[in-house]
Amino acid sequence: MDSTLTDEQQMILDMVRKMVQQKVLPRAAQIDEEAIYPEDIFQLLRGQGLLGMAIPKEYGGSGTDIYTFCLVLEEIAKVCYNTAYILVMTYVPQSCILEAGNEAQKEFYLRRLASGEYRGAFATTEPGAGSDLGGIRTRAVLKGDCYILNGRKAFITNSTVADFIIVFAKTDPDAGTSGLSAFIVDKNSPGLCIGKIENKMGGKGVPSAEVILEDCEVPESNLLGEENKGFGIAMRSFNRSRPIIGARAVGLAQGALDIAINYAKQREAFGKMIVSFQGIQFMIADMAMQIEASRQLVYKAASLLDRGEQGNHVTGIISMAKCFSTDVAMRVAIDAAQILGAYGYIKDFPSERYIRDAKSMQIVEGTNQIQRIIIANSLIA
Ligand SMILES: Cc1cc2nc3c(=O)[nH]c(=O)nc-3n(C[C@H](O)[C@H](O)[C@H](O)COP(=O)(O)OP(=O)(O)OC[C@H]3O[C@@H](n4cnc5c(N)ncnc54)[C@H](O)[C@@H]3O)c2cc1C
Repeated sequence: MDSTLTDEQQMILDMVRKMVQQKVLPRAAQIDEEAIYPEDIFQLLRGQGLLGMAIPKEYGGSGTDIYTFCLVLEEIAKVCYNTAYILVMTYVPQSCILEAGNEAQKEFYLRRLASGEYRGAFATTEPGAGSDLGGIRTRAVLKGDCYILNGRKAFITNSTVADFIIVFAKTDPDAGTSGLSAFIVDKNSPGLCIGKIENKMGGKGVPSAEVILEDCEVPESNLLGEENKGFGIAMRSFNRSRPIIGARAVGLAQGALDIAINYAKQREAFGKMIVSFQGIQFMIADMAMQIEASRQLVYKAASLLDRGEQGNHVTGIISMAKCFSTDVAMRVAIDAAQILGAYGYIKDFPSERYIRDAKSMQIVEGTNQIQRIIIANSLIA
């Protein structure tokens, strides 16, 4: 029992650990291998009431704080990145709607996300613009009581299973980041179709695909927040979700270290278990130190959000948490595979999967170069 946890947090974690060991662990390698969205896992998370954890009670969720949600994600990501990814993909559109939605939008979409009736996706990136959000080309023009959207979104995770996609488009094409708006686009809107599904190196259970918008009609009532205020909505949503990415990174790193320690205790070389070699012990110590440091940073960021704190300092800490924890996850996953020797390089052992899964976290929700820019700006602004 961890004395820093409340009874409720401990109870939730006990439940999650049991679920992970019994239901998730046996599926983890298979999900990666098959590269098919694991509907059974989605239904498992739904049945356990985990989808709506961080959604306020008034919209049908459990109203858990971000800190506790991070604890749960960490626990799941130790064993299965894809399962944690499904939870992240409930959180990302949810936090955007919480951030900017009107009462009717919150009531409709959050309630359905919490119950698992709806799944969502979040679309800023395009083939020609990712980090540079002001450079997107998708256009939205108001005609009568509908916006007409035209453009192409790329790498949109969960879009193949989503019931709605939050799409960012230009409503004032000459105004850079001041000309962006956000829309809740229902999947069956006329003019929306899913294009190429990407063949990713990791996170294979949660597909990322192109979203094509051709004269796609979106009711004016599905504008999220105010017209031309989309950039701020995206930035505030990223702030809410970056600690969540961090928690998944901490979990992945801890899972990789656990595998490495377990292996080192069983593998013999030169007449000894390799865990007795100081060279291996120093690697284990370094990995553990980095993981603990990123855990503290991620939970600090989550606590700041839970307390409603804002400002440059908070944004800086949140980016530090995302950047540091995901860089650590990448390093630790590689070092863990090193400890397994050749077995770390083959698919019969889980270690190589952790490397492939870790990589995307340095890219998504703002690349780690972009995080470093945000951190620097938070210090020198
Ligand atoms: C697995 C996966 C899932 C994804 N899911 C989604 C999703 O659901 N929705 C969505 O909208 N997008 C999604 N993306 C896209 C992701 O958000 C973008 O890849 C990311 O924002 C970077 O954009 P880019 O790939 O266009 O790279 P670019 O912006 O072209 O950057 C290329 C390189 O240049 C660097 N760079 C760019 N600008 C600067 C700068 N000013 N200073 C220093 N370096 C810089 C970047 O850090 C990067 O290393 C996903 C990507 C992946 C890999």
